[in-house]
Amino acid sequence: MNIKNVTVFGSGVLGSQIAFQTAYKGFNVTVYDLKEEYLNAAKEKFEQLGERYKNDLQSTSQDIENAMNNISFSADLAEAVKDADLGIEAVPEDIHIKKDFYTNLAKVAPEKTIFATNSSTLLPSQFAEETGRPERFLALHFANEVWKNNTAEIMKHSGTDQTVFETIIDFAKAIGMVALPIYKEQPGYILNSLLVPFLGAAMDLYVKEIADPQTIDKTWMIATGAPKGPFAIYDIVGLTTAYNITKMRADASGDERLSKAAWKLKRDFIDKGKLGVTTGEGFYKYSNDNEDVA
Ligand code: NAD
Repeated sequence: MNIKNVTVFGSGVLGSQIAFQTAYKGFNVTVYDLKEEYLNAAKEKFEQLGERYKNDLQSTSQDIENAMNNISFSADLAEAVKDADLGIEAVPEDIHIKKDFYTNLAKVAPEKTIFATNSSTLLPSQFAEETGRPERFLALHFANEVWKNNTAEIMKHSGTDQTVFETIIDFAKAIGMVALPIYKEQPGYILNSLLVPFLGAAMDLYVKEIADPQTIDKTWMIATGAPKGPFAIYDIVGLTTAYNITKMRADASGDERLSKAAWKLKRDFIDKGKLGVTTGEGFYKYSNDNEDVA
């Protein structure tokens, strides 16, 4: 694998985590964002991440210092990408922003640079043309809290070169991820292709008043040995996100049961400040240390 220098575009929630994890594993990382002030905010995020690594991974202060020493910052796109073997894009989830971003990037990036998008809901083919190098472009999708939830879904579009795909699989492993190769474009990758219908089916049972959330979860957990049921997962994802997805599906399909589910989520949970684990209550109650006490 010929990757040493990695540029991460966008230093928000995911960009900062990807950059830190990559530096932690010994790669040279350049962080790019639009303004110096955003880069300064990223430096603070790295300090907080350092503490999380110490708590969650028992990293030493020396490990964290080494990671920080591997990171440099730039608000100049051409400068940020000039030595990059790989550029990982984590700019906002908006097709117009991504298209504009890749159009500008294509003008200044060296020919050798592979581009990877961390987009959760857009497909690489939607902006492959703008990259100017569709064969050296694919999706590399991380999960929030990359150091713990270390999946990397690596997804080709129809024009991605096979050797580029294999290089990124190797890279993902080299930064401590479990690499999950996906051979064709699939909205939602693997995880959400499974999770969204699963959670939707559970919501259906609840809205139809077939059984209580606790009974539905218990059935799933005891029968399959899974550690959590769908409603405990809803609490972790957050009920605002659950509401937004359900409402969007209801509006798009005109399905009355989905509308009822959205309305129930809003009335019984969101309007009462019960947003899931983060607020201490959703379908279950949680104590301060997030232990399930229901
Ligand atoms: P965010 O809003 O936290 O961060 C986006 C960053 O991009 C900001 O720092 C912003 O200043 C910067 N930015 C905006 N326009 C830019 C431009 N033109 N060039 C460079 N930087 C620009 O967003 P996020 O949650 O980190 O999400 C980024 C990407 O990662 C999205 O595609 C999202 O789907 C994906 N993702 C997010 C999560 C998550 O849990 N947040 C998980 C997996 C994947």
